[in-house]
Order: sequence, then structure tokens, then C-alpha cells
Amino acid sequence: MTISTATTEERSLLAALPVAQKVRLLTGADSWRTHGADALGLRPMIFSDGPAGVRGITMDERKPAASLPCPSALGATWDSELVYELGTALGIEARSKGVDVLLAPTLNLVRTPLGGRGFEFFSEDPELTARLAVAYVRGVQSAGVAATIKHFVGNDSETERWSYDARIDEHVLRELYLVPFEACVREAGVALVMAAYNSVNGSPMTEHGRLLREVLKDEWGFTGVVTSDWDANRSTVASAVGGLDLAMPGPNPFWGEALAEAVSSGAVAEDLIDDKVLRLLRLARRVGALTGPDAIPEAAATGTSPVLADPALLRRAAAASFVLLRNERDVLPLDPAVIGSVAVIGPNAVRPVIQGGGSAGVFPVSVSTPADALREALAGRAAVTVTPGCRTWTAVPAPAARSLTDPVTGEPGVHLEFRAADGSLLAAEHRTTTTLAWWGDGLPPGIGWGETGVVSLLTRFHAEDTGPYAIGAAGVGRLALTVDGEVLVDARTPVPADPVETMTRPGEVRGTVELAAGQDVMVGLDFYPADGVQGPLAVRLGIVASPDEDAMLAEAVSAAAAADTTVVVVGSAESTESEGYDRDTLNLPGRQNELIQRVTAVSDRVVVVVNSGMPALMPWADRAAAVIHAWLPGQATGYALADVLLGVAEPGGRLPVTMPANEADCPVLHAVPEDGLLNYDEGLLVGYRGYDASGTAPMFPFGHGLGYTGWAYESLVVGAPAVTAGDDLCLTVTVRNTGSRPGREIVQAYVAGPQSGDGRPVRVLGAFAVAAAAPGEAADVVLRVPARAFAAYDAQSGGWTWPRGACTVEVGRSSGDLRLSAALMSG
Ligand code: BGC
Repeated sequence: MTISTATTEERSLLAALPVAQKVRLLTGADSWRTHGADALGLRPMIFSDGPAGVRGITMDERKPAASLPCPSALGATWDSELVYELGTALGIEARSKGVDVLLAPTLNLVRTPLGGRGFEFFSEDPELTARLAVAYVRGVQSAGVAATIKHFVGNDSETERWSYDARIDEHVLRELYLVPFEACVREAGVALVMAAYNSVNGSPMTEHGRLLREVLKDEWGFTGVVTSDWDANRSTVASAVGGLDLAMPGPNPFWGEALAEAVSSGAVAEDLIDDKVLRLLRLARRVGALTGPDAIPEAAATGTSPVLADPALLRRAAAASFVLLRNERDVLPLDPAVIGSVAVIGPNAVRPVIQGGGSAGVFPVSVSTPADALREALAGRAAVTVTPGCRTWTAVPAPAARSLTDPVTGEPGVHLEFRAADGSLLAAEHRTTTTLAWWGDGLPPGIGWGETGVVSLLTRFHAEDTGPYAIGAAGVGRLALTVDGEVLVDARTPVPADPVETMTRPGEVRGTVELAAGQDVMVGLDFYPADGVQGPLAVRLGIVASPDEDAMLAEAVSAAAAADTTVVVVGSAESTESEGYDRDTLNLPGRQNELIQRVTAVSDRVVVVVNSGMPALMPWADRAAAVIHAWLPGQATGYALADVLLGVAEPGGRLPVTMPANEADCPVLHAVPEDGLLNYDEGLLVGYRGYDASGTAPMFPFGHGLGYTGWAYESLVVGAPAVTAGDDLCLTVTVRNTGSRPGREIVQAYVAGPQSGDGRPVRVLGAFAVAAAAPGEAADVVLRVPARAFAAYDAQSGGWTWPRGACTVEVGRSSGDLRLSAALMSG
């Protein structure tokens, strides 16, 4: 938007404002709020993270959020309508919590399956990402809340994310990484774009005149607000001129007064500032923030009676995302009338990972574990045993609230005190979690990084078993742990590289105690936050029974041998997948592969469920009767899994990412910058495009997923014998349900263009649609393949071209299972 497109009202609002006040509006008031302006009747606007829930402005178990399946799980639904429904639910929840702006969805691509934040991305494919992103944004914004597409652009991995320079060819940006952003701007009218920490082709994204100003604003016509990622703005003139509109959070040393001075000195034109303010006012109008400075009741901001997303919707969505990768002898769904006993095994059966780490994390309303949900679902129908089988945690897990008693109130949980350096009490409260974080609000003065105060936690722990217990304290600073008044450990932890790690992966101090079943001990933790640290203040007390692991494995093997059917739930540990760092291996953590190998050696009815936001290697896949990839499914994890295992719901998912057979096969594996440069040398050949180009067979291809019924692809009718440059192509595909259950199929159309080879992909996903049919019935689906599927970006002429020649449209169940094809001419 330029000044000329502003309304008369907007112009007069602006004319009334001195430069200093305009500039004040362009930097956050604090972590999650913008400034209000009385003269404009503008109230502060409240921001909250997403994308898998609306955390609000605090990270606090007393203000929980609905916890959705992670975005890669939503990618696996391939279902825009469902994603729209979820987006709408998020928007309504945000509104009810007083949140104006949701910092979601995340639109980076799964360039490498090791990306720490891959669980937050929809897919490795730009078209699948774009379709779901548009639905998500439309859903959120239908509730009057502004969505923010992030992180623009090239933030596809986490290692050195604050500083790396992604070297990406223009045609690769256009054909892959910019695609979902462009779709959300052009098709969904997204309200905000978040500029990433990293640089692209030599310029920090917060200063990227070419991408922010020329491409995003001028070419695509983006009229909304470009916000920085948190603390990403590190310049005054370059970012102001480059196209950044809002520096978050505030204060930001580079904007504020420094920016006002740059305007006075003429280094930044006042028109530019006006344009930014107009964008902000437009956002304010959109979310209803031009209602006067008093119109923001604090209660609304902190959410006294929020409207949380419907648990039934979350359960349905999780089931729709589960991908049935393999189902030998139709071992699934399990028939409770036939199976007499089920052994439920695996670390994630009892402690599922429902979400990834970092800013996407929420305090869920509740969590259903696979073990509890299966016990409940099979009660009175089959005997269920539960054994974790092995350990995967790297930081001692938080104990269940029911094993803790607050010694002051006598309620389940802990007593928390904030004390000044002289020991005087600043504040005290009862809490029901030992995982505590403050990100902006909630700390008394004197407590914080570099302050002299101490956070103390006291709780009575009740041991259920006899044996060794690990007790750990995690946080950045000095941590002193006591058990019944005796010091167990007192030590300091280092300051991490990325600020978010203060919360997601802080250092830990740890000790072990021997406890007897039924014994109660008083556990105390004093946390002295370190100096010179950025990021949320966080501290955690962990307590876990820590029996001998060989004995755990042996117990699991006996349970499997004794049961009719075994369900092994494996996957990530709590800190495996997170913002702030990448994974260094695709192997499941700990001894989980060994656990599966040993269990499959004693039972031929083993169902393996992988609870991981991104691919994991499955060297045991052909020994398991069935394999389900279940992502990080949110609060409904257990219930949704029980529904799918027992056939109450269809495992509706299809892979939004390729599952590699080996690490070496991945087109891109480690995304580690060299001397600050991250070269996207693979060009367009990311994900299945890379596998197809090299002729490498993955473990399971992009798009794969079986469901509980079979499908015949009966016909493909192409709307025209040739595609003209710039025109979409319509396809009609008829599929028939050949099984005995109603089912849902994702019909996928790929385009093999005239130019494949020589760095160009063999085929690209053109379009997809959901088909549903009763047993024996056929369904027709109409697919619209966008013109761009037949195009290439020509960096020299700066535009799209439609190469002439023969191309093929292929339709099928996955990129590796194409059933029908049609040849046509394009260009
Ligand atoms: C993340 C963003 C997030 C922001 C605020 C940053 O570290 O990259 O995705 O929205 O923090 O939490």
C-alpha cells in the first residue's frame, strides 16, 4: 500500500500525528503488545504464538490452550476443509483470549527431515503447503483475528538461524520457497508477514528490499504489516527502507528514538514511516483495535473464559492425519471381539510427545496417552498390559502432578516462592506443574535474568515403585536441588546459543536417589537465573523412576510374547524436535530400534506407531505387521490412536514428506552453514523431486498412505488436449472403493513437464482432492491443476514462462503409485 491508496480518514488520522508518535507505534510495547495511541483511538494489539494452539501472552498451566495436531500432521490430512475448520477454531479461541494477531502459520518447507522445526511446517511440497496455508489463514481470519505467515523466507532449518545467509537461486525461490507465501497474500489476504532471522542472498530478511518491497509489496500487492521475527531487527535505516513495518518485541534499540532521528536527518523519508503506520492502522481496523484506548479489558487479554477448540474436532483431526504406512494381513483395525490380550509397549505409549518445542508450545487442556486411551477403549473386552520398554529422555521428565503435593496447600502440585537476595519473600503461589516459564509477564520485580532474586520450588513427591529415581533441575543459571533438606546437587548450567533454548533445552543438573514404593520425600529446588541471557525465563523440576534398562527391555519382550497383539508406540523424546536447533540423526532416540527388533522377534502381530513430527528411520519396518506414522498429534493423541487402531476412525493421512530408507538417500540432510553460508545447491530437487531425479527409492514415497479400504482408479478425463500458457487445467478422476469399509482417498495429480531433467524435477504435485465413497461405490473428483504447474520461472526475464512440448499428467495414490496418465501438449 502506498499513501495514495489510503482513505481520507486514514490520511487525516496520520496528519494529526507527530513523527515521534508515529515511530513509537512501529515498535512493540513489550513482548506481545503493540503501543496504543489515544489520539487515534488505537488500543494496543495483542500477539500470540501458534501454529498448533493459541498460547496467549503467558506460558502458564492455569491458562491452557487447545492443543492441535502439529502442522506436519495437518499436512498429512491433505484436507483444506478440515484445516479451515481448525483455523477457524484457533481464530475463535484467539479472539476469546483477547488475541488480535496469531503468529502462524509457519510456511517454510521441509528441505531436510532433520530440521528441528519441521514439525511446524506443512510439507516438503510448495503446492500442498500453499493449499493448506490458504485454508488455515482464511479460517483464522474468518474469526476477526489476523494471521501471520512466517518465516519469510529461507528459514527452513534452525542451525545458526539468527545469522546464516541462505543462498537460493531466484527461480528456486519462486518455484519453491515463495510459493506458499504468495498464495496466502494473493488468495487469502493474509494480514501480516514475519521477516525471518536469516539472510537470503546477502541481505538480512528484515532489510530485504528486493523480497519485502519489490516482490511482496509491489508485485504481489501485500497491503498488510511486515513484522520482524522476535528481535530479528538489527538495523535502523536498512530495515526501515527495506520494507519492515513493525519491530517486535519492544523496546528495540535500532528503531524507536533511533528511527525518529533517522527521519529528522533525512536518512529515512517520512512518507515511508507514514506507509508503515497506515499498514498498522489498517491491521488495527481489521481486528477491531480502533475502538479507543480503553477498549482493551485486561481480562480479555489474559483470557478469563476462553472458548477452546472442540476436543472432538481435535480428535477427528488427529485421526485424519495418521498415516497407515503398512498393514500386512490386514492386522489393523484390531477387532476387540477377537483379540484377547494387547501388550502396549514403548516410551511414547506412556509419555507421548504431543507437540514440538519452542514458541509453538502450549499448555494443553489435557493429554490422553495411548496407554490410558487403549485401556479405556478395551476395558472389559481385552486384557491390556503396559510396559515402557526403554528410556528416551535426555532431560529428566516432569513428574505427574498426582505424585506431587504442595506442602503449603496440601493440593496436588508444588509451592512456588520468589525471594529477593536477602531472603525476603516477594511472592508465592501454588502451581500444578513443575515446567515453568515466564515470557513477558508474571514475574515480580527483582526476578529475572541477571537479577539477584531466586525462584524456589517445594513439593512432596510420592514414589510408586521401589528403585532408583533420577531427579533433575533444568534452567540457565545456578540450580540447587535438595531431598528432605539434604543437598543432592548444586551447580551452574551454561548459557545456550539460541535464546529459545532457555526454555526448550536448558542445561540440567541431576542426581539419583533410592526410594521405596509408598515413600514420600520433600524435594526442593532453588533457581538463580544467570546474567547476560536473552529468552524466556524457564525452570523445570524432573523426577522419574529409573530402573535398569535391560530389565525394561526384557519385561517388554515377555509382555509381547504373552499377548495376542502388541502395539509399540515409539518416537521422539520431549526435546528431540524443537525450534532453536536441528536434529543430528534420523534414528529414533535411545534403544527404540532394538526394542522393536526384539519385540518383532517374539510376535508376528506387532503394530508400530511412530510419534514423531518428522520422518524417522524404520530399519524394522518389514518385520512389523503394521506401521502408523502419527506425528505430534496434540492433546487428543491417545484417543485418536485408539479410534484408529480399533477402526472407529480411518487412518486418513498421506505422507506430506518422503520417508527415507537411509540418511544418505535424503536429497538434503544436514543443513549446517559453512562460514555463515547455507547453499541451497540442490535447487528444485527437494523431497520427492530429489528422489525422483536420482532414481532412489525411499522407504515410503511422498503421498503414500493406505487407509482401511482399497481403491481402484477407473478413469482420468483431461479437460483439454493441450494447456495454453497461463491456463489452469481441469481433470476429472473416477475412483472406486474396492474394500468393505467406507473410506476416504486423497487423489493426487502430478505433472511431468516438457523440461524434466537437467535440474528440473521429473514431476511435481499439481493438484489433489479428497474423495469419499461407500464400499463398492465410485466417486468423481474434479482437480484443477494451476497454470504454474506447467511453468518455470525465468530469472533473466524476471517472469514465468510456459515451456512448449509434450507433458504428462499422472494420477494416483502417491508420487510412487501412479495409476492413470494422460499425455498432452503444453505451452
Ligand atoms: C520464532 C517465531 C515466534 C517468535 C515469538 C521466534 O523465536 O522464530 O516463530 O513467533 O519467536 O515467540
